[in-house]
Amino acid sequence: MSRIETESRYFVPGPTWVRPEILSELTRPMVGHRSEEFREIYKQILIDLKELFVTKQHTFVATCSGTALLEASLMNCVPRRVLVTTCGAFSERWLSIAQSLGLEVDHLEQKWGEPVDPQALANHFAGRRHHYDAVTITHNETSTGVLNDLATLARVVRDESRDTMVLVDAVSSLGSAPVLFDEWGLDVCLASTQKGIALPPGLTVFAVSERAMERVSKKNFRGTYFDFLEYKKNAEKESPPFTPAVSLCFALGKQLDYILREETLEKRWVRHRHMRDLTIERTKPYATLVTELESASVSVSAIEPTSRPAAEIVREMKQQGFTLGGGYGQWKEETFRIGHMGDISIAAMKSMLDVLEKVATSK
Ligand code: PLP
Repeated sequence: MSRIETESRYFVPGPTWVRPEILSELTRPMVGHRSEEFREIYKQILIDLKELFVTKQHTFVATCSGTALLEASLMNCVPRRVLVTTCGAFSERWLSIAQSLGLEVDHLEQKWGEPVDPQALANHFAGRRHHYDAVTITHNETSTGVLNDLATLARVVRDESRDTMVLVDAVSSLGSAPVLFDEWGLDVCLASTQKGIALPPGLTVFAVSERAMERVSKKNFRGTYFDFLEYKKNAEKESPPFTPAVSLCFALGKQLDYILREETLEKRWVRHRHMRDLTIERTKPYATLVTELESASVSVSAIEPTSRPAAEIVREMKQQGFTLGGGYGQWKEETFRIGHMGDISIAAMKSMLDVLEKVATSK
């Protein structure tokens, strides 16, 4: 199959299509993770991650999916109480993890399909009775296709307290939309690499502020595998704390080089906006975007068809060789989702949208 043929068929909101050049990195001969050869690759990954997160602070990579780092950020940074902001299924994951860790949890809930309202967050702080060790924010809510205004939400927390950590899930935004770690005053920001970074699943990248590292150093019982201080100590020696997925690290090194120096971050962000706009424009005649335009995600669109049932459309697209995402959670029946993230090209989007239009408007 030609490149465009394989590429144009997979529009799931993660894992996403992976470039053949990246897949071939996975077949490179093995090297030891303490070898000089690996150290060089790892060192460059940590440097490039600073550029990806737009930060001068700590950056790391761990062998795990993103959920592990949601848990790890709470274990490292929250001795007692956390405020969880939610607006869909993935932001709610913070809630269940915090509860499972026995933390004291408060919940600021926004309706599915709406972004978390910065004013509601400020009001919550104004009326609160407790100090929060941290607030969690999910930058891009993948279940509903909502991109939260992370910069403003983080500013609300920063203005309120220097001592409250801003913990951010950027799983489906990093590599697709701007994530300005230092400028926005974030404390932990994490993303698994099977979405906007377009690698096979298995790695999670994360950034940690100096302020958060100070908090971590004062917290007892941080666990072992995800102890941020271990990551820091080893990163100073350009080394991972434990045996990483070496082959995925080869792929990550190559992909970061491509994103930062071949495509460039700015052009990647523009391409994602373009894919989002195309999706909205082309599906408008037969479907409704379930979010407001101002908060529409650049990496995934949740769509409610008016012409035919969502599941029928997804099934028929599959028969035509195109994989779309189904609806998620409470929106499972009414919606389907189009993943437009990672390395998908505008040409590939257009050819999929042509077929989708025919399928959605047939009968
Ligand atoms: N957070 C968001 C916003 C997601 O979209 C996902 C997965 O789709 C997760 C967290 C969970 O990530 P993982 O499957 O890498 O654990």
